[in-house]
Amino acid sequence: MAPPSPDVEADDCLPEYRHLFCPDLLRDKVAFITGGGSGIGFRIAEIFMRHGCHTVLASRSFPRVSTAAEKLAAATGQQCLPLSMDVRSPPAVMVAVDQALKKFGKIDILINCAAGNFLCPAGALSFNAFKTVVDIDTIGTFNVSRVLYEKFFRDHGGVIVNITATLCFRGQLLQVHAGTAKAAVDAMTRHLAVEWGPRNIRVNSLAPGPISGTEGLRRLGRLCAPDLLSPLKRLGSKTEIAHSVLYLASPLASYVTGTVLVVDGGSWMTCPNDIRELVEFESHAAKL
Ligand code: NAP
Repeated sequence: MAPPSPDVEADDCLPEYRHLFCPDLLRDKVAFITGGGSGIGFRIAEIFMRHGCHTVLASRSFPRVSTAAEKLAAATGQQCLPLSMDVRSPPAVMVAVDQALKKFGKIDILINCAAGNFLCPAGALSFNAFKTVVDIDTIGTFNVSRVLYEKFFRDHGGVIVNITATLCFRGQLLQVHAGTAKAAVDAMTRHLAVEWGPRNIRVNSLAPGPISGTEGLRRLGRLCAPDLLSPLKRLGSKTEIAHSVLYLASPLASYVTGTVLVVDGGSWMTCPNDIRELVEFESHAAKL
């Protein structure tokens, strides 16, 4: 099997791209991508746009999404609308969705990718830190899904892909906050798939493993050596995640709903989850 083509570490577009899927797979679709200004969300936007989609990038920092939108539009020729929005604020989400609908007249796809994370032992985690991660990852995902349902998907159908994680599968050390928040999103995926399926809305989760060139890996990479210890003996790339999200969002997955697609090279099964690391982490943190 040919190795995957090289990715770009920074939040920049791929210098060259060879289509594996049909280039007009998402032609004239519109995707609303939270957290689309950086990392995995940026690459999802790029790959969607390279398949004919227009995108809306929504996150807190307007400079971040507007810089990203300029790069994406220049590289792909598709339209990209940057919007400042905090997923924790339903009124802000309503304004942003209205702006997107005003610009494009429709939204076909929602990608819930916004999240926050850091390493911390449960016993040292402040109540506010736990709540903040649940607020962004879990409640934020509900807020945006609920607003889009009410404003467009209920009457026109749609596709939702929630970006989650494998952290809860084995109770990953130092990750009780994010693991809990993402597990709740996977539950939400199934509930919404059942309730909204009759409205022609598909809802799925995609759980990435350790992905190179991302803030997530920079913050959490010390938890294991995934490039050595995962079955495929390497990190995943942002483009590999984006291709799997493209599959879920496209008509190729027209009968797929309520699932969690794990895209991690098998790493959750083999990466260490060694509680001796907890002792080391706590003693290191105590010295700071
Ligand atoms: P990232 O670059 O830090 O992306 C997170 C994005 O979320 C940022 O663009 C950020 O933009 C946005 N965001 C954060 N809080 C927000 C809020 N309250 N409202 C709106 N937007 C908000 O991280 P990444 O590593 O690419 O991760 C992307 C997704 O993949 C996350 O859901 C993460 O949990 C998941 N994941 C990543 C990995 C990995 O290896 N990287 C592994 C498993 C799962 P602003 O700061 O502008 O708001």
